[in-house]
Amino acid sequence: MRVFLRGGIFFFLSLASSSSQSENDDLLLAQGFYDPSRQQGYTLLKKEQAVSYPLYLHQDTESAFEAMRLEAKKKGIQLRIISATRSFEQQRKIWESKYTKLKQNSPHLEEEEIVKKILRYSAPPGASRHHWGSDIDITFGNILPQNALENESWKKGEGKRVYEWLNQNAPRFGFCQPYRGSPQNRRPGYSEGHEEESWHWSYKARALSFMRLFETKFPIRGDFSGKKHVQKYVREYFFNVHPDCLD
Ligand SMILES: [Zn+2]
Repeated sequence: MRVFLRGGIFFFLSLASSSSQSENDDLLLAQGFYDPSRQQGYTLLKKEQAVSYPLYLHQDTESAFEAMRLEAKKKGIQLRIISATRSFEQQRKIWESKYTKLKQNSPHLEEEEIVKKILRYSAPPGASRHHWGSDIDITFGNILPQNALENESWKKGEGKRVYEWLNQNAPRFGFCQPYRGSPQNRRPGYSEGHEEESWHWSYKARALSFMRLFETKFPIRGDFSGKKHVQKYVREYFFNVHPDCLD
């Protein structure tokens, strides 16, 4: 599967061979070097779909989410999106804010230790599934978005019911949960990875084609704190996803 960038428009084609230039263009897209608000094929989420504004998804992901949202609504479940597509720069800001906080709170920590602490729940800029227009963080009902970003909220009361509904129904709308279960028991052959994220769901058909791009090449671009240590861990964390999100 190849992704070509042509004047802001990209599409998928199967080709037996590829040039390094097009491979590089593909990776730039996969690493969030574009503006989702101006990208062909992306759509602005509607008010009833999201808790914040403006959020963008690829239209295929948005259609699948909308179908799932309406189905859930019939069961009295209100699904909404907290976070959708992020550019490299947006992911870099998240990374830097966590880095600064950890550094301030624990000045004795080595840079590598800080990187590992951030990696528990966040991907480095350029390696986030949120770069692809395929991945979403969701919330339910009227709970505060920050509470939805805690696994505990999905294990009791309404959260438990919603999580069970998602487990039974999300796959038929094309969604999977990449960071499911503990990283040690997630994917055979992998031990380290991002912690469980009950709120993070991925539109598999789109995400898979991006994931494959990184199998042969994984450039670490741009400037961000702890970059030199990221190289060592990025593949292990990136590819340690639940088998539901693989072929
Ligand atoms: Zn997420």
